[in-house]
Amino acid sequence: MKPIFVLLFTMIFFSCDYDMDENIIFKDLPPKTLDAQIEILSVLTGNQPMNADNIIRSRATIEERRITVNYLSQVLKQLNLEPIKHQYKEPNTNPLIDILIGPYKGTNLFTILPSTNNSNEYVVLGAHYDTARNCPGANDNASSLSVLYGVTKRLSNVDLRNKNILVVFFDQEEENLVGSKAFVKYLLKHKYQVHSVHTLDQIGWDKDGDRAIELELPTPELKKLYKNQGAKLNIPIHTTNVNSTDHHSFRQKGFTAVGITEEYVNGDTTPFKDSKDDTMDTIDFEYIDSTTNLIFEVINDIVKSNKHDLGQTK
Ligand SMILES: [Zn+2]
Repeated sequence: MKPIFVLLFTMIFFSCDYDMDENIIFKDLPPKTLDAQIEILSVLTGNQPMNADNIIRSRATIEERRITVNYLSQVLKQLNLEPIKHQYKEPNTNPLIDILIGPYKGTNLFTILPSTNNSNEYVVLGAHYDTARNCPGANDNASSLSVLYGVTKRLSNVDLRNKNILVVFFDQEEENLVGSKAFVKYLLKHKYQVHSVHTLDQIGWDKDGDRAIELELPTPELKKLYKNQGAKLNIPIHTTNVNSTDHHSFRQKGFTAVGITEEYVNGDTTPFKDSKDDTMDTIDFEYIDSTTNLIFEVINDIVKSNKHDLGQTK
């Protein structure tokens, strides 16, 4: 190789892999999707360093969340997707607290997997990345981030997408859904045309091994789509009325939304929520794999279709 090419190659190599400001991870994710999903969960829960300097034990403080956003940005870049930070400031609902400690400040991170035919319609997939204090948050909610990585990677490989896919990692779900509420405002302000919203929370526990999921407050159309794919994959699909996580922020403002979770109401759910014991060794990766397959099939079904009758124009 001529010296100029060696120089160019070196510049490109280093500009891709080293960016000290962004707290880059220093290695690539494994090629197999499930292996990468396991590694992402391992990094998020402090079993591996998130960057050269930091092992993160929870994702609750401002600094922990900042480092997590930078890590997740790198994960998206490894899928050749552009990470976009949505920084927000939201007043505290208690005016006194607002005066004393100031408004909520956080960062949602999102990316867009574009349609293959210049559609202006979006399917939104989301999961929160924050945790309770001193909680590694393996089930709540690294499990969902791991599933979303797998789903996004598989969707990026399909030839036909008649809709855009917006993948978003919410901040501050643990603070009364502040992050997703701020993101809803962002979508409305920028007039995104949203087909449907699918948010995941706690999807790593399956002690009875039946791979069942619960759909929280699906519309009849969404329920049918999940049931169809569940039947093909032999995955039981239950329905509940739980509204205590991010999909609620969207439904409140008129979006078509559904929550996806492990058997939370049926009782096959982690006993370690919000505790220091919500660790990686409690995660069932066969369940992660099964749910990844299901959600991929449902979203693929939606985006390959030309139908626009599920969502509302916002
Ligand atoms: Zn959660």
